[in-house]
Amino acid sequence: MSSWQPLDCHAHSTCSDGVLSPDEVIATAAARGVRGTVSDHASRDVRYSLKSVADVEEYESLIAHLPYRSMEFCSHDSLWRDLSDRHLDRLTHRIGSLHAVTVADGSLVRMFQKELPTGLGPSAYMAFHVAAVEALADVMPIEIFAHPTLLPYTLRDLPPEDLWDEAHEERLVLALKRNDIAFEVSNRYRAHTRLVERAVSHGVRLSLGSDGHSRDQVGNLEWPLALTRSLGVTDDALYDPAVHGTRRG
Ligand SMILES: [Zn+2]
Ligand SMILES: [Zn+2]
Repeated sequence: MSSWQPLDCHAHSTCSDGVLSPDEVIATAAARGVRGTVSDHASRDVRYSLKSVADVEEYESLIAHLPYRSMEFCSHDSLWRDLSDRHLDRLTHRIGSLHAVTVADGSLVRMFQKELPTGLGPSAYMAFHVAAVEALADVMPIEIFAHPTLLPYTLRDLPPEDLWDEAHEERLVLALKRNDIAFEVSNRYRAHTRLVERAVSHGVRLSLGSDGHSRDQVGNLEWPLALTRSLGVTDDALYDPAVHGTRRG
């Protein structure tokens, strides 16, 4: 009998847009047999979020007693750039998200806006998207790339195997590989199997994330864990900063 318990690397509390307190996040995960993380948004471009260095400091004191502590940074926002090593080192791991992408005319396309800008079709958009993933991976001080297949609303109903061409998938995976960043298998934004398989075949580490915001979501890793196991990834190879270390030495 193994004593291994899944680690939910990504969940939100009332410190950003979740409904559970940080301690409730951990307790909710534990009730599912899962080790929990509190990883609130730290971004000036998320409505309910840590929005300043002072907010980050207060948050870090509040969660200092928890075993796994993180924050989810937006690549397009500058708050993560304003944090010092001391701020980053108080976390057990750091999560980067692509919540907005700059396109040809310099404007931002946000993942949560209703429509793509006029004249920008899905495949043209995807070229900007993948370039933004590469830039994120190359510059952000993170261990995990959250929900790698989160896309603008209008694209979410298209078949992902057509929308993502294989050369784009390859670039995403290689950007994570060269920067030693884990590919999050998200329960909230579920990736198509071909892309997760590609990450595995390139030796990219996978991490589990509920991206939970409520009691029924936090620590719910059933789908991600079934997928990683079906791809032959051993449980102890799933990212755990206490076991696999961080990029901060
Ligand atoms: Zn996110
Ligand atoms: Zn999140």
